[in-house]
Amino acid sequence: MAETTCKWCGKFMKVKKSGYVYCSKRCESFDNGTRKIVYCDWCQKPIEKNTANINKTNFCSRHHLGFANAVRNGAYIEQFQHETEHIDWTEDIAYLVGLIATDGTLRKNRKQIKITSSDEEFLKTVIEVIQNKITGRKQHYQKYLSDKRNINLGQEYVHYEYAFTSPYFYDFCQNAGLTPDKTNTISMLNVPQKYFLDFLRGVIDGDGNFNVIKNEVTRIRIYGGSKLFLEWINNFLKEFYNIKKGWFTHSENDFGSKYHLVFSTYHDVLKIVDLMYHSDKVVCYQKKKERVQDYLDNMTELKMKYNVD
Ligand SMILES: [Zn+2]
Ligand SMILES: [Zn+2]
Repeated sequence: MAETTCKWCGKFMKVKKSGYVYCSKRCESFDNGTRKIVYCDWCQKPIEKNTANINKTNFCSRHHLGFANAVRNGAYIEQFQHETEHIDWTEDIAYLVGLIATDGTLRKNRKQIKITSSDEEFLKTVIEVIQNKITGRKQHYQKYLSDKRNINLGQEYVHYEYAFTSPYFYDFCQNAGLTPDKTNTISMLNVPQKYFLDFLRGVIDGDGNFNVIKNEVTRIRIYGGSKLFLEWINNFLKEFYNIKKGWFTHSENDFGSKYHLVFSTYHDVLKIVDLMYHSDKVVCYQKKKERVQDYLDNMTELKMKYNVD
């Protein structure tokens, strides 16, 4: 065994045959010019390519090629920072997973995620998180008018949709247990306990509500097409947060059947409000939070009064 250093990268190495001067085929091909670094035409990320495969424009991924084509065809897409390739659980990410589990869709044949809301301001809040934490990309959202839903009432039903592509976050959502056809098949998700409350806030902001009667929150409801999913949430809350009495009801109308997970004791309602808004800074649906602002302002007293631990 001879000891030497790679001619291209300088790495120390042992070689059986003396005479071979590279640590790898890769270093050899860089040195003899059959491999080069070029930059993604969309995000400027360096990419290694065989010289034979270098084109006039080069892309690090198929979706970046797709964006460049879309822009050429007139779409507005602006990459203002690098897209996040390694997604980790954080409060914001857990919140988004909760929201997507209820108000979102993973597209079937593309790594694209769509979030729908009837509230434009709220959707803008969510978009900001997605752009800053995931895609690094500015894109417009869509406004849709009319839907069968409210024709009977003679009103126009407005909703807003934001679709974004991120293969990294799409895979992350799938690993957490979301599936492209989730609505009725979703069950337990893999959410770490540390981020469960942020996830829960996403779920409630997406498909839950506070019943407020005369300034009192009488009920918290979470709606869903899958009873297994709601049962899992209920069990998690019982096991880790001492929530006592979630119960289930079921409703059916022209648009399908839904389960409701309902919390209606003072203890549980107060405690859930306290837990889900565990800090002033968490991302949330502001209008929904305002409905329980009185509770949040007086939480310490209320918890004493109703014996909430
Ligand atoms: Zn080398
Ligand atoms: Zn790129």
